[in-house]
Amino acid sequence: MGYPVSEALLQVESISKYFGGFAALSEVSLSVAPGERLGIIGPNGSGKTTLINCIGGSLRTDGGMIRFDQRNVSGFAAHRRARLGIARSFQIPRPFSSMSLAENIAVPLEYVVHRRGLHSADVSGEARALLAQMGLADKADSKAGALTQVDLRKLELARALASQPRLLILDEVMAGLAAAEVEEVLDIILGVSRRGVAIIMIEHIMRAIMRFSERVVCLDAGRIVAEATPAAIILDPIVRRIYLGA
Ligand code: ADP
Ligand code: MG
Repeated sequence: MGYPVSEALLQVESISKYFGGFAALSEVSLSVAPGERLGIIGPNGSGKTTLINCIGGSLRTDGGMIRFDQRNVSGFAAHRRARLGIARSFQIPRPFSSMSLAENIAVPLEYVVHRRGLHSADVSGEARALLAQMGLADKADSKAGALTQVDLRKLELARALASQPRLLILDEVMAGLAAAEVEEVLDIILGVSRRGVAIIMIEHIMRAIMRFSERVVCLDAGRIVAEATPAAIILDPIVRRIYLGA
């Protein structure tokens, strides 16, 4: 929408994914422009997490193609896609709880240190800068095991951003947070977007989807059933019926 597909950062072309005989995704196509903010909604079990597992490379698709930056990455393992600039958060973050926040971020940073031309000595400073961006500067030396839910989500964001991705995929990072915390995390995510990172956000919290998205896609039973601006998607009769229960 609004840009030539040839300039897309991510192009998902008619991908399917089967678990046994069950089609979790059926011929799903979508594209994301550089720096774009795409929201994905859909009921539980509609295939949202499966879709991002296929984009991130932790699952192989059964047909279709995934292009990132004009390159066919369909056969690439997750770590290769990460190196190209795809990062994702996990629905249930599992930090090293006996390590400090800075040490937790240093783990993925060490991994990308050579690619980014950093010296190992820079890693601690980089970790702290990332934590500061997430509003966690004063907790850099606290143990991750002692974190509140909202700080745990911020740490998960910092971990995903450590590789300096061009595409960040967020899987329900705000689930279970209080309304004020949702706004707080959303402010951080919008800050990341302003630095030019394209973001796909899967979220049930409609207020967050509305504020975040430039465009929203709705999945149902493994298929895209609607795609529109946030203002238009909540008026879509299919979305109202299957997702909002109206
Ligand atoms: P969502 O994230 O939208 O809630 P999922 O992508 O997690 O949905 O799941 C889509 C469907 O695929 C569900 O019916 C789920 O039970 C099924 N599914 C997901 N992962 C697997 C798996 N590894 N093996 C078998 N079935 C799976
Ligand atoms: Mg899910």
